[in-house]
Amino acid sequence: MKEAGAADDYDVLIIGGGLVGASMACALAGLPLRVALIEAVPFQSPQQPSYDERCIALAYGSRRIFEGLGLWPLLAGQVTPISSIHVSDRGHFGFARLAAQHYHYPAFGYVVENSVLGQMFGPRLAQQTNLTLCCPARLQSLRCESGRATALIEQQGQQRTMTARLVIGADGGRSQVREQAGIAATVADYQQSAIIANLSISQPHRGQAFERFTDSGPLALLPLDGQRCSLVWTVARDAVAEVMALDDGAFLQRLEQRFGRRLGRFIRIGRRHAYPLQLVSAAPHQVPRLALIGNAAHTLHPIAGQGFNLGIRDVAVLAQTICDALQAGNDPGGSAVLAGYEQWRQRDQRSIIRLTDGLVRLFSNDLAPLVLARSSALLALDLIPGLKRHFARQTMGLAGRLPRLARGLPLAAGS
Ligand SMILES: Cc1cc2nc3c(=O)[nH]c(=O)nc-3n(C[C@H](O)[C@H](O)[C@H](O)COP(=O)(O)OP(=O)(O)OC[C@H]3O[C@@H](n4cnc5c(N)ncnc54)[C@H](O)[C@@H]3O)c2cc1C
Repeated sequence: MKEAGAADDYDVLIIGGGLVGASMACALAGLPLRVALIEAVPFQSPQQPSYDERCIALAYGSRRIFEGLGLWPLLAGQVTPISSIHVSDRGHFGFARLAAQHYHYPAFGYVVENSVLGQMFGPRLAQQTNLTLCCPARLQSLRCESGRATALIEQQGQQRTMTARLVIGADGGRSQVREQAGIAATVADYQQSAIIANLSISQPHRGQAFERFTDSGPLALLPLDGQRCSLVWTVARDAVAEVMALDDGAFLQRLEQRFGRRLGRFIRIGRRHAYPLQLVSAAPHQVPRLALIGNAAHTLHPIAGQGFNLGIRDVAVLAQTICDALQAGNDPGGSAVLAGYEQWRQRDQRSIIRLTDGLVRLFSNDLAPLVLARSSALLALDLIPGLKRHFARQTMGLAGRLPRLARGLPLAAGS
C-alpha cells in the first residue's frame, strides 16, 4: 500500500469501500493501474454501514467471483452453505422446495456475516501494491470531464484534490457520486423496514433456508453455523417501532406465530436492527469518466437476497471491460469502456430489479385473485422442473452472459 498524500493523479478512483467498492479494488489488483480507494468509515468501526451485524447470502455465482479474486480461501470455515430453499405463503396452499444437488452444485449459496467480510477486506486492501487506501476520507465534490475526473476529498480535516481517468461510484444507495454527476434515479419507498437478528433454534437446520410470505411481510431465515439462523423479517413501516419494542420473549413468540415450528423452537435472539427499504435505480447515463456499481447503481429490497450478488457481478464485468481495454492498448476510462459496461449490465440489472420488486408487490397484497395467482405460481415453481431450473440459475447468478470471473476463469483473457 502506498502512503496517501504522494501524487494525487490516478488511473482509477473508487469512491466507497463497502462490500462492492472493496471487491472492485481487489479485482483491479493485478492490473497495471494506479488505484485509490476513498472510504468514509474505517473497516472495523462499529459505525461502518456496510460491514455491520447483518448476514448476507452469497449466491453460488458470487463464490466463483470471490474464487477468481483469490478471496474465497480467506472465508473458508466462516461461511454456511445453503443446500436447499423452502418457499411458502402463510395461510395459503402454495409452496416450493429447491435442492442444490438437483442442479449438481454443492450449494445454492453461502451465508456470511458482513463483519467477517470487513475483517477480510481491511488487511487485504492494505497489502495491495497498486492501491492507495484513503480511510477515513470522504468525497466532497466531483467534476467529470472528457479528459479527466476531478474529486475533492476531505481527509483528517485537510482537503485534497485527486484526478483520475476513471471514477467508480460505489458509495451506496444515497450516492453522492451519482448526485454530483447529475444522474437521475428512480426511488420507490416500500414503506417497509427489514428487521434483522441472529437466532438460536432447537433443531438442526440441515442447511435449509426459508422464505415465508406472511400477511405482515416476507420473512427469511438463513442457516448459520451451529444451531443458529439469521433472520430478515420485513415489517410495514408503521409497525416497526412496536415490533422493535417487544421484549425478546414476545418477539420470538410473534415470530413463531408467523413461521411455525419448522426449526423447532426459537430459543434466543441477538441484537435486532431495522433497515428502511427502498428501490433505487439510477437512470441510464453517459457521464464521461464515470461508472456506478453496487447500491449506487441499484438498491434492492432484500426479499430474495440479491443486492450484493448483483453488485459483485457489476464488479466482475467492469473489471473485465477495463482489463480488455488495457490489453488492447485503450484508455481504461474511455467512452468505449463505459458504454460496454453499461450495455452488458443492463439486462441482468433490469431482470433482478423486476424479480425482487415483483415479488414484493405480489406478496404484499391480499386481494383474492392475487393470492390465488401467487399460490399457483409457487406450486408451478415446485412442480415444473424447467421453471425451477430457470429460477435457480437466475438467483444463483449463473444466468445470461457471464464475465470470465463468474465462469471460474482468470480476469485477463489468455492468462
Ligand atoms: C436487511 C438486508 C439484508 C440483505 N441481505 C442480502 C443478501 O442476503 N444477499 C445480498 O446479495 N444482498 C443483501 N443485501 C444487500 C447488500 O447489503 C447491499 O447490496 C450491499 O451492502 C451493497 O454494497 P455497496 O458497497 O454497494 O454499498 P454500501 O454497503 O452502502 O457501502 C457504501 C460504502 O460507501 C461509503 N461512503 C458513502 N458515502 C461516501 C463518501 N461521500 N465518501 C467516501 N465513502 C463513502 C460508506 O461508508 C460505505 O462503506 C441486504 C440488504 C439489507 C438491508
